Amino acid sequence: MSFFHNIKTENISLDFSYLNQDLRFYMKREDLIHPIISGNKFRKLKYNLKEFKKNKNSILITFGGAFSNHLLAVAYLGKVERIETLAIVRGEELKNSKLNSTLKKCSDFGMNFDFISRENYRKRNTNEYILELKNKYKNSYIVPEGGTNIFGIKGCEEILTEHDKEFFDVVCVPVGSGGTFSGLVNSSLSNQKILGFSALNNSNINEVINRFVKKNNWKIFDDSCFGGYAKFNNELINFINKFYKSHNIKLDPIYNAKMIFNIIDLINKNKWRFGKNILIINTGGTQSSIGINELLKKKGCETINY
Ligand SMILES: *Cc1c(COP(=O)(O)O)cnc(C)c1O
Repeated sequence: MSFFHNIKTENISLDFSYLNQDLRFYMKREDLIHPIISGNKFRKLKYNLKEFKKNKNSILITFGGAFSNHLLAVAYLGKVERIETLAIVRGEELKNSKLNSTLKKCSDFGMNFDFISRENYRKRNTNEYILELKNKYKNSYIVPEGGTNIFGIKGCEEILTEHDKEFFDVVCVPVGSGGTFSGLVNSSLSNQKILGFSALNNSNINEVINRFVKKNNWKIFDDSCFGGYAKFNNELINFINKFYKSHNIKLDPIYNAKMIFNIIDLINKNKWRFGKNILIINTGGTQSSIGINELLKKKGCETINY
C-alpha cells in the first residue's frame, strides 16, 4: 500500500489579475502527484487496487482510447505491483499500426492489448459484454473506462481537504467519465459549488453523475470541449503555449486547457456567478501532448511547446 500512502497536493495561487475582477484563483496541483500516473487516475486506482488484492484476482482488465491517461496509469500500476494487465482499446485499426507514445509506454510496462471496433467498444458497460470477458479471463478484475466505479469515486473523495471545504466557494474540474467530479461533489460542503467542464459531447453525463451523487450543488458545462474529445484548434494550442509562458504551468490539451480556457471565457463574457474564492483542480495528463503533437505536426499546425 506504500505506493498510495499519504498523498498531499499543494494549492498555489494563480495570478489572473489581468481579468480585472474581484476573484481569487488557486490551483490544486494534482498534476504533480506522480510523474507517470496522472493525478486523478492515481486517486481512482487506490481503492480498486485494494479490492483487486482483497479478491485475490489474477488479471486486471480495463478500457480506454489511444491517448488514455487511465491506461497508462493502470499499466504502470501493473508493473510496480506485478499484476497482469489487459487493455481493451477503442479502434480496431490500431492493431496494425505503430503504437503511439501512450500505448508504447503501456506496452513497455507490460500491458497487453485487445483492439476492438468502435461499435463493439460501445458495448463495454453492458452486462453481457462483462460476463463474456469474465468467462474468457478467469479470475479477472474489471475496471471501467477512466477508472470510474464506486471505488474510483471513493479515492476522489480524498482530493478536497478540510481547509479546501471551508475556504473555497467554487471548485472547478475537467470531466471525462465523471468519476473525479462525483468524488468532489460527494465530499464537498453543500454551500460550495462544484463546476465540471466536459471534455466530450456526452449528452447523458448529468444522468451518469446523478447515479453517483446525492447532492445538487453542481453544474456541468457541456459546450466546452472544442467540438469533441481530443479535438483542438489553433486557438487552444496557442492558449496552452501562452499559459505555460505566463504561469509556468503545463496544461494538457484534452482536459485542463479546455477547462481553463472556458473559465476565462465565462469571466470575460461576464457570465461568472459562482463565487469569489475559486479552486481549480489541475488533473494532470500532460503525457498526451506527445501523441497530440505528432498529429499536429503531420497537419502542419502549431504544436504544444512545453
Ligand atoms: C481522466 C481524466 C480526467 C477526467 O476524469 P473523469 O473522472 O474520467 O471524469 C480529467 N483530467 C485528466 C488529466 C484525465 O486523465
